[in-house]
Amino acid sequence: MSFVPSRGLGFPRFTRVILGRTPKYVAPVSAALVVALSAAPGQAAALMTPAWPTTTVVVNTDRSVSGTVDVKQPTTVVLQQKVSGDWRNVGSDTTDAAGNFSLAVPTWWLGTRDYRVVAEGSESAPATFNVKPGYTPPGKSTEHAFLVNSTMARWDPCTVIGWRINDRQASTGALADAKKAFWRLGQATGFTFRYRGTTTGIPQADSNSWFPNDTQIVVAWARKKQSSIFNSIPTADAAGMPYYLMGYHNGDGSSAYKISKGSVVIDSTLRIKGGFSSGISRGDILLHELGHVMGLAHFSSSSEMMNPVMTRGIARYGKGDLSGLEARGAELGCLYAGSSRVSARVSGIVAPVE
Ligand SMILES: [Zn+2]
Repeated sequence: MSFVPSRGLGFPRFTRVILGRTPKYVAPVSAALVVALSAAPGQAAALMTPAWPTTTVVVNTDRSVSGTVDVKQPTTVVLQQKVSGDWRNVGSDTTDAAGNFSLAVPTWWLGTRDYRVVAEGSESAPATFNVKPGYTPPGKSTEHAFLVNSTMARWDPCTVIGWRINDRQASTGALADAKKAFWRLGQATGFTFRYRGTTTGIPQADSNSWFPNDTQIVVAWARKKQSSIFNSIPTADAAGMPYYLMGYHNGDGSSAYKISKGSVVIDSTLRIKGGFSSGISRGDILLHELGHVMGLAHFSSSSEMMNPVMTRGIARYGKGDLSGLEARGAELGCLYAGSSRVSARVSGIVAPVE
């Protein structure tokens, strides 16, 4: 990412302004379902009546599904979420004396997906939940591109992605901003990011074999001469870079590359304000460079954070950013080792991107 300074001013000015970012309240849609479960052979029918809450919700809104199972003794009720064609458990509850249960529906992950309740060997009809951001993302869902196009390159959502910060040269508040950026990245991708602490290391334009075992992403502030990442992009103010391994496949058998590490290096001599508010901010840089680490390439649209030129708008992902992050996110299910096309796990390095 680079800035476009205006002549005669000490502070960078930017040529693009993001419009149409007024937050909009999403009207709730009421949906209550009553489902009679069919009995397994030889069993009495267990009647379960799940009452699904509003199914269009703003991210992180508390929502739970409740109902009753007609059984004499306490029984386990499981909430399942459909991901990559498979149902997986995302919560469970034990019925009380009256057979009642209540299960929290995960609303931290943006996007549309199906849920169902399972008890006594029977399942309810699925309910579709749509989790939206707390603002109206500008732009269009098609406004995104990927760094690697020959084969799908993505992170494995079935592992925790640990990250560390080197903020020794950063100004106050860098850690808080980085945590917020990862939090938003988690909402967009469905990945689990976990903060592992600080590091004194500075990522370079290689495999960064010094990353601790619990760390897959390092975000560092450094002078440009301290990182070879800037060698190929000397005018950049910040850079992001994924590192991937070939020889993996998706659940459907198609070949994939596994992004196994990511680096963000920000020029520590750059003076910009912290936070994510309107105007050029540290939040802009973090969301943009972490977008590269997730495998996103630049897309020329002032509505998107992956626009190569930083804008004046509030730092938050546009519709195309979110769509691209979702398209390489946890919705795809686990990555598996092995590939018909690549027998050995060969590493691949994406050229650093500003
Ligand atoms: Zn960039």
